[in-house]
Amino acid sequence: MKLLVTTGPTHEAIDPVRYLANRSSGKMGMAIAAAGVARGWDVVLVAGPVALPTPPGVRRLDVVSAEQMYQAVARECQAVDIAVLCAAVADYRPVAPADQKIKKSGTGGLVLELEQTKDILGAMRQPIGFRGLLAGFAAETCDLLENARRKLERKGCDLLVANDVSRPDIGFGTEDNEVTLLFRDGRAPQVLPKAAKDQIATAILACLAAMAGPRG
Ligand code: C5P
Repeated sequence: MKLLVTTGPTHEAIDPVRYLANRSSGKMGMAIAAAGVARGWDVVLVAGPVALPTPPGVRRLDVVSAEQMYQAVARECQAVDIAVLCAAVADYRPVAPADQKIKKSGTGGLVLELEQTKDILGAMRQPIGFRGLLAGFAAETCDLLENARRKLERKGCDLLVANDVSRPDIGFGTEDNEVTLLFRDGRAPQVLPKAAKDQIATAILACLAAMAGPRG
């Protein structure tokens, strides 16, 4: 079985020394990549800028921006059976990053014009054409299950992992997570109670392996 995982934030350049990003640590994706190796799967990890070691046995491709992550995923997913897109990709990027460091001028403020980045998960079925099992994450601060269900359908996922990031003890940057799995096939949602991220990762991959059938 071949698995593609994305992890981490992306950095969107404002100028050569500044960027827009978010608080994603990349731990959840690293744990999923490691759990894939533990199952004996071939794992390719597309990682945004994260300060974490690569789990042994994982082929890691480092990227910086959402556009670079899109290109790497579109290329690598052609050869995999399962894709778990876990990265907290920036939704917006500066329209025109400055070539030189932006200087302070007088006392005035600075207005940055932003444009949307590509939604990598949302592009997997069309236009990328990925036919394998597709899992995404939904980090929400309210209406967790409704938002996650809509995301599952909109993005053509088979599995959506819903994560309440309003809680300080789970989610971004923490060691533990508690998630709810939502399925395309109409099965009832399944809660994975609070546990270390590597245990959550193992449970998510067990679920995907069962969905993949005998080859899982
Ligand atoms: O729409 P939202 O960002 O909340 O969806 C989260 C899911 O979509 C995650 O699985 C994330 O990896 C993926 N995503 C993506 N590309 C983006 C934004 C989100 O792949 N530009």
